[in-house]
Amino acid sequence: IAGPCSVESESQMMKTAMALKDAPVDILRGGIWKPRTRPNAFAGVGNKGLSWLKKAGEAIGKPVGTEVATPMHVELALSHEIDILWIGARTTANPFSVQAIADALKGVDIPVMIKNPVSPDIGLWLGALERLNKVGVKRLATIHRGFSLVDSRPYRNQPTWRIPIEMKRKVPEIPMICDPSHICGNRSLLAAVAQEAVDLLFDGLMIEVHNDPNSAMSDKEQQLTPAGYVKLVNGINFKTETTDNDEFLKKITQLRGEINKLDSTFIELLGQRMTLSEEIGICKKENNVSVLQPSRWAEILETRVAQGKTKNLSEDFVTKLYQLMHEESIRHQEDV
Ligand code: PEP
Ligand code: MN
Repeated sequence: IAGPCSVESESQMMKTAMALKDAPVDILRGGIWKPRTRPNAFAGVGNKGLSWLKKAGEAIGKPVGTEVATPMHVELALSHEIDILWIGARTTANPFSVQAIADALKGVDIPVMIKNPVSPDIGLWLGALERLNKVGVKRLATIHRGFSLVDSRPYRNQPTWRIPIEMKRKVPEIPMICDPSHICGNRSLLAAVAQEAVDLLFDGLMIEVHNDPNSAMSDKEQQLTPAGYVKLVNGINFKTETTDNDEFLKKITQLRGEINKLDSTFIELLGQRMTLSEEIGICKKENNVSVLQPSRWAEILETRVAQGKTKNLSEDFVTKLYQLMHEESIRHQEDV
């Protein structure tokens, strides 16, 4: 899926579309109503852009899609024969808005893609799918566009891949698209994120493409030229979930067997660790000693991080792992 962040004019839309005519594009995108964070930013051209978008799609023989945020947007998009709709991240975060859109789509057979909510909240994302499904919209997809976190650097929106991975586990039948443009916020990061999405078996990509990105009225830094888009897609190494190569299958089965054994030992050891922790909890209780002893916790973290480094485990990973174990250990001691 490719096309500009915003539909800006009839000629911008047509130029961009014509330049994508023979590119690897299945759907042409363009934003008509733009949810801008601050009120004085460009908020989209509105209704008049719908016919520019549709015309550009017809000129290159491709279906077109746009974002809808209200029942009025839905009605206007349908009356202009827009082929595919999506719900934006800010809208998915609001169940009232999603329900209003769902009600407006009752009985309408149009594909709808749902972007993740701005916060990493799987429940809201699933909830939006359920609201649409309930009114009879059956052709649904999700779009991962990253999350607004306190610190998303170097991204505009942190990808936090475990959230879309979990989504895929919960609703494997729903195709999942990745939107590297809004994750990155910057065109220099796009190729790596697009490749990562392909490696994680996403079903498609949505990438912002503008005939002249530097003059774009929104999201200038992240938009690609049509040529830049083609170069990016051609540079992606596409993957399949598996292969029938016998040697590969044999090797991977053997390695997975070893992983399974290690994991089983790992769970066994964690259980033993927790039993010791409970015994410590009893000693502490009998002696009126606090559950948390900051100096002991600091020592654990420091020594484990140091040991982890000798095994090529990052400080961040070992810290997160121990924070999880420590929290669980505290919970067990609190139970005591
Ligand atoms: C967009 O796709 O142009 C857009 C506004 O995205 P998001 O809802 O992900 O911010
Ligand atoms: Mn955009």
